[in-house]
Parts: sequence; C-alpha cells; structure tokens
Amino acid sequence: MSGTEVSTRSIKLSLTKSEIFGLVFRLAILGVSTYYGVRWIVKAMDPTRKQKQEAKEQAEKLMKSIGVQGVSLSDYEMSIAAQLVDPLTLSITWQDIGGLEEICSEIRETILLPMKKKHLFKESVLMQPPKGVLLYGPPGCGKTMIAKAIAKDAGCRFVNLQASNLTDKWYGESQKLASAVFSLAIKLQPAIIFIDEIDSFLRSRASHDHEATAMMKAQFMTMWDGLITDTSCEVILMGATNRPRDVDPAILRRMPTTFHIGLPGKRERQNILKIILRTEKLGEGVNLNEIANQTDGFSGSDLREMCRNACIYTMRDFIRDQRSSTSESQDDAESLRAVAMADLMTSLHKTRETKQLQPGSISQATSLPLD
Ligand code: ATP
Repeated sequence: MSGTEVSTRSIKLSLTKSEIFGLVFRLAILGVSTYYGVRWIVKAMDPTRKQKQEAKEQAEKLMKSIGVQGVSLSDYEMSIAAQLVDPLTLSITWQDIGGLEEICSEIRETILLPMKKKHLFKESVLMQPPKGVLLYGPPGCGKTMIAKAIAKDAGCRFVNLQASNLTDKWYGESQKLASAVFSLAIKLQPAIIFIDEIDSFLRSRASHDHEATAMMKAQFMTMWDGLITDTSCEVILMGATNRPRDVDPAILRRMPTTFHIGLPGKRERQNILKIILRTEKLGEGVNLNEIANQTDGFSGSDLREMCRNACIYTMRDFIRDQRSSTSESQDDAESLRAVAMADLMTSLHKTRETKQLQPGSISQATSLPLD
C-alpha cells in the first residue's frame, strides 16, 4: 500500500502523506484562528478597552511632547505613561506658594540640589537625593502645590500616579502595573513618581486584604527596594497624605524624608492672601493683615475659596448693574468694580460657617508615628 494507514477502533482510513500534511495544516490554521478569535472576543468584551486605547494615545502624545524618543515601552508601561506630566506645562512655581518659605527652602536643599548638582555629590553615598519623600498635613495646605513646584524646578519627568490606574479586574494585572510604574520611571529617569493620598493606596496591610491588593502592595515594595539599593538610579517616590497614621509602616520606613505641611499661622496667611489676590483689583480699604487676623484655622485652600467668593460678589454686582441700566449707559460701565473689604469679610464669615459643617480631620494629620 502506497499511503499510511490510520486506524481507530471502528474506522479505518487510508491517507497519503500529502493528505496527512493537508490535515495537519488545516488543523493548525483552525487552532490559530480559534486562538486569535477568542482573544479578539475577550478584548472586545473588555469594558476598559477604550480607556486603554485612549491611555496609549495619550501616552504617545505626552512622550513626544516631553522629548522621549527611542524608548520602547510595554503595554503596562504605556498605561502608566499616560499619567506623565510635562514639567514645562506646570504653572506652579515656588513664588506661588505662600508662607512655607522654610519648608520650601529645605526641600530645595535636600531634594533638588543633589539632583541638579550631581557632580558635587557623586563621590558621596550619603549625599544622594532621598528615594522616598512624604509630605503630610491637613488638607488644602499646599502639599500638591509643593510636589508640582519640585517637578517644575527639577525639570525632570513627573508621573502623577492615580491609584485607580493600578487596579485591573484581571488577576495579577495590578501587580504588573505596579511593576511598570518603576520600570517606566527607571527608563525615563531622572523622574519623580508622585502619589497623592498615598494612604488610600498603600494603607496598612491587613489580614482581610484581597489577595490581589496584597500582591500589588508587595510588588510595589519589592520594586521600591530595588530602587533604593541602586545608588545611581535617579528616581524619587513622593507621597502626600492627610492621614499618615493610615500609611503602611513598611512604606513609611521607605520614606525617611518627611515634611509636615501644617495649617498656616497669621503671617503665613497674610502671605498666602497676597499671592492669591495679586492679580485682582483691590479697593483702598482692603486690609490683608486684618483678614489674616480673623482667619485662624483656615487652610490655604480655604483662603483661596474665600477670595474667589469675594471676587464673585463683584461680578454679581456687575450683572445686576447691567440688568438695571439702559443700553446707552452700559458702555460706560464695562469693567468690574474693585474687590472691597466688605466683600472679603462677607465671604470670610460664609467660609467659616461652611468649615464648621465639615468633620474635623486636622488633628489626624498633625503628627506622624515615626517610631
Ligand atoms: P489635599 O491634601 O486635600 O490634597 P493639598 O495639601 O495637596 O490638599 P493643594 O492641592 O496643594 O493642597 O492646595 C489646594 C489649593 O489651595 C491650591 O490650588 C492653592 O490655590 C491653595 N493653597 C493651599 N496652600 C497654599 C499656599 N501655601 N500658598 C498659596 N496657595 C495655597
């Protein structure tokens, strides 16, 4: 017989060699197309597909704008790269931060100087920029502003990491994303990874943590350790929190450089008010010293909100005047009046009332357990 005999219990087939090859070839085609078909269906069913595609496009655009070329990134790194910030587009500078002069200059000396003047410190192991920095204190006191000012001044790549971008419904994916944060930063170094509200993402581990979350945290710490031991690596992880007590102690240990950004005192409030109101037209009677006196317990963000409201009163009056005046006289009054002391005082009382409604979260942020 010229062909090969294929037999099963009940069927006997006689096939030539070329028929067997044909059969194997068809089976292979079927296997491959089934594999890609299933992959396509799974991808099409993935609810985050569009988001991932957008993240990729965003990352490519950002990488181009910050001048990163010839760096090949994995899909995971791409999705982290979508959170890159071009330092040149950041509008915050040190001059925009009021009342934190001492902290700002300490930050410049301990973090930025060793980064900018590497040649001075290259012989020293101890005088390298810290690998982990924690900014902590009550909400609205300038932590995020400081992080942005650092990124702008350092001129380095800045990853504004959102914890939500590290969560993925597929088992093990979050771990790979956590890993990608570090591998991306290393590829783009010098870089700063900034995690706002770090307590929500890297809070103390508990026995009831979901396995995937525990694995992601463990991966994060392992990668961070790699960064700490590599002295030549220029990546800084910076976190900000209102609740330092909730941050995992193992994470706190990796952030030995801490700065307490507390509520501003009277002099600081006056400085902040000057900065916030520098672009506004102020009436003769505006006394910032008096306002600073009466705003004890206000954060920088409260002061900004208070000033914003005061400015809105001038706009509200303008609209009322426009409505009541005739069309001929409208041309004469085409500008807003100056912000008066009365606007600021009314707004101050309103802001204080609103603050009294808020639950007190300040006491939790005033001390850090660094034992
Ligand atoms: P949170 O903990 O809630 O994230 P935060 O400490 O990061 O708050 P920022 O986001 O930095 O606070 O500040 C919020 C806003 O408050 C700023 O955009 C700014 O307008 C104003 N602000 C806060 N602190 C200052 C400051 N020291 N000088 C000038 N403006 C300030």
